[in-house]
Amino acid sequence: MSKLIFEKSIPNRKGYSLPELTDSEKECNLHIPSKYFATEPPELPEVSELDVVRHFTNLSLENVSLDANFYPLGSCTMKYNPKACERIAAMDGFASLHPLLPQLRGGGMLTQGALEVLHETENLLCEIVGMDAFTLQPMAGAHGELTGIMLIAAYHCDKGNKKTKVLIPDSAHGTNPSSATIGGYKVVTVPSDANGCMDMNAFEESLDESVAAIMLTSPNTLGLFNPDIHTLADKAHAVDALLYYDGANLNAILGKIRPGDLGFDVVHLNLHKTFATPHGGGGPGSGPVGVKESLIPYMPTSIIVKRQDGTFALEYKREKSIGYIAPFYGNFGILLRAYVYILLLGKEGLSRVSENAVINANYIMAKLRDKYDLPYNRSCMHESVFSATRQAKNGVTALDVAKALIDRGFHPPTIYFPLIVKEAMMIEPTETESKEEIDSFIQAMLEIAELAETDSESFHALPKTKSITRLDEKKAVKDKIFSV
Ligand SMILES: *Cc1c(COP(=O)(O)O)cnc(C)c1O
Repeated sequence: MSKLIFEKSIPNRKGYSLPELTDSEKECNLHIPSKYFATEPPELPEVSELDVVRHFTNLSLENVSLDANFYPLGSCTMKYNPKACERIAAMDGFASLHPLLPQLRGGGMLTQGALEVLHETENLLCEIVGMDAFTLQPMAGAHGELTGIMLIAAYHCDKGNKKTKVLIPDSAHGTNPSSATIGGYKVVTVPSDANGCMDMNAFEESLDESVAAIMLTSPNTLGLFNPDIHTLADKAHAVDALLYYDGANLNAILGKIRPGDLGFDVVHLNLHKTFATPHGGGGPGSGPVGVKESLIPYMPTSIIVKRQDGTFALEYKREKSIGYIAPFYGNFGILLRAYVYILLLGKEGLSRVSENAVINANYIMAKLRDKYDLPYNRSCMHESVFSATRQAKNGVTALDVAKALIDRGFHPPTIYFPLIVKEAMMIEPTETESKEEIDSFIQAMLEIAELAETDSESFHALPKTKSITRLDEKKAVKDKIFSV
């Protein structure tokens, strides 16, 4: 492990000297009450500029990132973040935009460009997923889910519908049941059938007038497309239950089909997944929510409006709105990157994204299916879910496979999700990887499968190449450093 920067401190070593105070600054200081002055100098590491540069450069090399490694983390869509989007987001006019600048009157033209970008992004997203309006405010997919559920609740409340339940398949991401629960609904879990899709009989048994919504990921978290989606939508709408689209897997169908055309009423998109914006260690993300016309009145404040004179403004006064869910413009820098990404690729480029993402996932599936179990053995969409049950019989679990991949220079796939697959390994290569990179990942997975048969003991000490090796997860759970 590298030393902390405090441990590198040498008394009086300096990287930067502050200039002497000017007379006017000294004069200013006289007006600050003496109780606000520190009596001790701050405890800062005393290091040279080069010490600082090396420290942070070396720390950054400890980080696993897309710019350095293949990152097939299923469901998370860890695709390359094009540098053109970063450059434009760093332009001074965008990066220095203060959220409190006036929007329109009194010199407000300063924000018109930003508002126009947001307005156009909303229009593009509407077109891409077949919705009638978008809010760009939510800051993550999970935040979008909660916003969506609040919109659905507002819709039912306004119509006088008595709704208490939300149906969610057992393959769903954990954020779905939590969003529905926080939104005040009882979650009914619907089992999957042998094909990995929502069991239609079980669905019909659970569906009645008290169902507010059905939350679906499509293709689902097994990387499979539901062929009954139109029937499902019709049955849901017959009891005025709304269809919620968890957009985490939009990368599989981008430019090919639109959730709005499949019958979905509300969608969230994860711009940090499908639209190539940085995930950034759990944020900053962005989870815009799109709705069909019947839900527009409840959209959160503020919304962006285009005035008759062609100028843009944020509108706050909206009688039926669910209110604020985020301040100012949402996560502006991220929204801007997604806007640039959409314009960079254009309509054809976006549909090539899903074509290549799906081909890459199927290629990996075909190459690994002889050595790893595939519980749902049909062609997949943009990701496939293997199981390490065969290896586990020799004592090598999905976790061990993941650790072995780290030593071979790959970020592990998502493991132990979805919950309905034992020893799950969910592999999502995305469209941005070359065939050579994918081939070397396949090679590593095949070597690992081989090693699991010949030397299963060797796995338990992995990873060996990192400064932090195998963590004692039981101890981590038992001996909590922080308690809430
Ligand atoms: C990532 C993901 C979410 C949550 O999105 P965040 O942006 O991480 O909050 C929800 N559902 C699925 C299927 C996901 O993969």
